[in-house]
Amino acid sequence: MERLHALFILAWALLRSLLAPIVGARRGLAAFRASYAKDRLPAVHPDERRALPALSGCIACGLCNEGSAARVAQTNGKFGGVMDLMLASSRSMPDYDAAAASFEAIDDAELAILERRCPTRVPMRAVKAFVLAKAAELDKAAE
Ligand code: SF4
Repeated sequence: MERLHALFILAWALLRSLLAPIVGARRGLAAFRASYAKDRLPAVHPDERRALPALSGCIACGLCNEGSAARVAQTNGKFGGVMDLMLASSRSMPDYDAAAASFEAIDDAELAILERRCPTRVPMRAVKAFVLAKAAELDKAAE
């Protein structure tokens, strides 16, 4: 009986998803904003969505962290290293204000050098640009 109930719910959800665009009941960007603004989650624009896979190539090798221990110590934890920015801090959009503050510790010229060191060629400057752009939208999303 439980299995039948689960199948019914899945079939109903599928039917609703397929019919929503036809009957004009599809929830759009305004509904997304209404649902997620309080969670500080801004919408991702189509061009950003297309760029996202290229931003997630970090394999945690640690090469971009070499030589950054002193800077990590100087910032009292605000900057956790470039690997942290590429692998973790850039993954949670509601926390992008903290990531943006961390990026203040490293400029684009340094990131360009580290990009050449990176075995998977993570586009670190593009990750930074994405994080800063979305961080700027966080407060607007919450309004
Ligand atoms: S060098 Fe590249 S792959 Fe290695 S930790 Fe840094 S960003 Fe990740």
